[in-house]
Amino acid sequence: VNLAKIEQINVTGLHFAYADEQILSNINLSLNKGQILGIHGRSGSGKSTLLKLLMRFYDPQSGHIQINGIDLTQINTQSLRENMAYITQQTYIFNESIYENIIMAKRHASQQQVIEAAKKASIHDFIMSLPEGYETKITELGNSLSDGEKQRIGIARAFLHNAPIILLDEPTSNLDSLNEAMVLQALLKVKQEKLIILVSHRTSTMQICDQVIHIENGRVS
Ligand code: ATP
Ligand code: MG
Repeated sequence: VNLAKIEQINVTGLHFAYADEQILSNINLSLNKGQILGIHGRSGSGKSTLLKLLMRFYDPQSGHIQINGIDLTQINTQSLRENMAYITQQTYIFNESIYENIIMAKRHASQQQVIEAAKKASIHDFIMSLPEGYETKITELGNSLSDGEKQRIGIARAFLHNAPIILLDEPTSNLDSLNEAMVLQALLKVKQEKLIILVSHRTSTMQICDQVIHIENGRVS
């Protein structure tokens, strides 16, 4: 499978259990490039588990996960993961410059690409407002980046990495509505080229999605 041209993800009849406990039952979904799929459901309903199955941290007991019609089990796991950006609630910020914190996603990127990624992630203006711009060290800020700023740096990293598939697990749950809107705006800016799956229990987040599935008692309802 040519992972550079990922057009579609399909999940059919997926069942998954951790040990004896059935978590997901008969999950079906289909996502095309250019779309954002929302996954909504109560705490413990299996949303994060579904993302982990897509990254192949586990395999389903039955059913299929396919990319461009090819089963995940037929795809090299390392190249699969290189094609996925995974963004969670917590973005780890390293004790270096802001620039280093973004370029780490793609060492050979140009300065222009770093700035472009930061612009798309709606964090460029904030960075430029800092005393030394991109060269500002995290320690100079007294480690005082807000959760929303950290989150957008994480998103800039993901945009620089430029993976065709972006998986986001509750990316805005710690954010106020302004920061949330900026993060969502950032996703809308790149969505034409991507397949995006956005897990959240917030209805405001679900509003940017092209389709939403709701998981309840392990099933799509
Ligand atoms: P939240 O909204 O709180 O993040 P979630 O929908 O992401 O919840 P999951 O993390 O997918 O839920 O967990 C689904 C169920 O599987 C929960 O009951 C959880 O306790 C259980 N679970 C998660 N990870 C494991 C694991 N590694 N081993 C056993 N059970 C697990
Ligand atoms: Mg979760």
